[in-house]
This record gives sequence, C-alpha cells and structure tokens, in this order.
Amino acid sequence: MDIASMSIAEISGLIDDKPYRGKQIFSWLHNRQVTSFESMTDLPKPLREKLKQSFSIGTDIKKLESVQSADQTTKYLFKLENNTIIESVYMNYRFGGSVCVSTQAGCRMGCIFCASGKGGFERNLMPSEICGQVYAIQHEKAHISHVVLMGCGEPLDNYNNVVKFISLISNENGQGLSRRAITVSTCGLVPQITKLADEMLPITLAVSLHAPNDSVREYLVPVAKAYPLTELLQACKYYTDKTKRQITFEYAMINGVNDSLSHAIELARRLKGTLSHINLIRLNETEFSGLRASTNETVWRFADSLNNHSIKTTVRRSLGSDINAACGQLRNRQR
Ligand code: SAH
Repeated sequence: MDIASMSIAEISGLIDDKPYRGKQIFSWLHNRQVTSFESMTDLPKPLREKLKQSFSIGTDIKKLESVQSADQTTKYLFKLENNTIIESVYMNYRFGGSVCVSTQAGCRMGCIFCASGKGGFERNLMPSEICGQVYAIQHEKAHISHVVLMGCGEPLDNYNNVVKFISLISNENGQGLSRRAITVSTCGLVPQITKLADEMLPITLAVSLHAPNDSVREYLVPVAKAYPLTELLQACKYYTDKTKRQITFEYAMINGVNDSLSHAIELARRLKGTLSHINLIRLNETEFSGLRASTNETVWRFADSLNNHSIKTTVRRSLGSDINAACGQLRNRQR
C-alpha cells in the first residue's frame, strides 16, 4: 500500500499508534518530502521498521534524464514503479517556479495533434506519483509555486486520483500549495466537469477547445463526438456559475484547420457572455500528424478579431520547444 497517497486521517487509521503520528508521517512525506522511512528520524525505530514492511512510498520516483532549454525550461523523464516512464516540465516564470505534471502514463483521448497518446494508454498515476514530480523537481530547482496538470494524460479521466492529489499538495502540513495556483486542463469530459464544479475547489479549469464548431472539434479531439460543443459549454457555464472562477479555453492554432477569421467570428459568437478567457497557442508541430502551425501573423490577427468581439484573448509564449517539451514528445523518443 502506498502511504504517500493517503490523507493524515487514513494514515492514522492504519498505523494504530499515538494519535499525532499520522500528521507526523504525513509531514515527513509531503513537507520535508523524504522518500524513505529511515529518514523519518524522530519516529521510533520499531515503527519505522513496521512501516517499511507494510507500505511503499509512491513519491519515490527516479529521475532518468533531464534536458534544459535556453529559456531554463527543463524537461524531466521519471521512472515509476513497474518501469512506467513519465515526463514533467519545469518552467521558470517571473512569479516563481511552475511544474507541468503528467497524470497518466499515455492517454486514451487520441487528439490527433498530441504526442501523449501515440503509444497508447499504460496506466493512471497515483496521487503520490503526481506529487512526486513536483517534489523531485523542487528538490533540484527552486520552490514551486504553481502546478499545471497539462503533461501526459487526461486529468479528468483519472478523476479520483487527481482530486486526491489536489488535497494532498495543498495540505498545510505538506507542501501547502495554494489551490489557486493549480490549473487542471481537460479535453472536455462533460460529466467530470460537472462533478468537479460540485467539489467547489478554487483551482483554475482549462478546457482544450481548439475549435469553434463540432465538425472541426470532432476532427481534432475525438472525444467531442461524445460531448458536443453545446453540452460542453453548458457544463462550463455550470462550472463558472457554481465556482465563480473564470475558465481558460485553450486553442491550438493549426494552419488551414481552425485559424481563419470566420472561425474567430464563429468562436466569438459561441463564447459570448461566458466567464472565460482564450489562450491561443501555435501548434507544436510533431512529425506524425502532418499538421502545421499557423503563422505568427495569423495568430495575432485571430487574437485581434476575438478581442474586437469582446472575447478576452491572449497568445501563449511557447517555452522549451527546442527540447521537445511539447506534450509526450520526449517520452516517445525513449520508448
Ligand atoms: N488532456 C488534457 C491535458 C493535456 S495537454 C487536455 O487535453 O487538456 C495540455 C494542452 O496542450 C491541451 O490543450 C492540449 O490539447 C495541448 N496540446 C497537445 N499537443 C499539442 C501540440 N502538439 N501543440 C499545441 N498544443 C498541444
């Protein structure tokens, strides 16, 4: 059993020791972020021995490789239990260190431009394995103030572990990360968006929209066949009504596919009145899709058109493209 995926109450319930031990062990795991029971030096030796016999520590992940780009973005490959390989990215912003974590090894969603699912789906990551990516990188770099769930995998397809991860990493006896500094990105799983709204977490939800209508969206993001745009936008409205938190719509600009001015106008019409903001990003080109990124000029024209239609739009700076930092690219090279 993985003790680093447990809450304080769960640990206390299992170890049958003094009442404060659960909190003490949790704090070793998530505040001091140790990855062995031997390091928990203020626990009695027999207890450390007993813990070692009964539990594993899922935050104990092994770094295989890291590559740093000119802008300090660093891509990591980690090995987890059963030789599962995942990747994470460190980004250095003015406001502090940010980590982009994976939530699954592989992915089931099959978006045509994305490298994450190309090798198929392997498994869900445990809450501790998501925490472990942040801790390992923090250990090597600097204090991490922001976490984005935008690495490999679909966070809402690993719903329970992702919600548990948020509660572990934000716990004041651990990392104590502000939930406002956490962004969860989804390709648009409607039932889970509704469920997440009901959790009332003050996190940021990002929705990978990538298209102004169902036919373009179905081509790029196959899951759109199950959840048409009207339903998706209704779920987003439910989310913003409930949480009062603005949604970020992500939109990868792909040459000749979703980047015309009529697409911009169609998009503006669809999103009018929603509590949201659009983040445009030029497609990160991968060899398998054959798709090309829009030109910078097209991206800015598209952004201007949306802004002129009163849809708040920004263009995302793409970090780390010189080191294959786009979703899933480094992991694929390894396999
Ligand atoms: N499964 C989640 C998180 C995945 S990655 C989701 O779909 O939101 C985070 C973002 O990167 C998503 O918006 C995804 O669509 C986008 N993305 C993936 N591959 C890309 C590429 N090659 N170029 C640009 N954006 C990409």
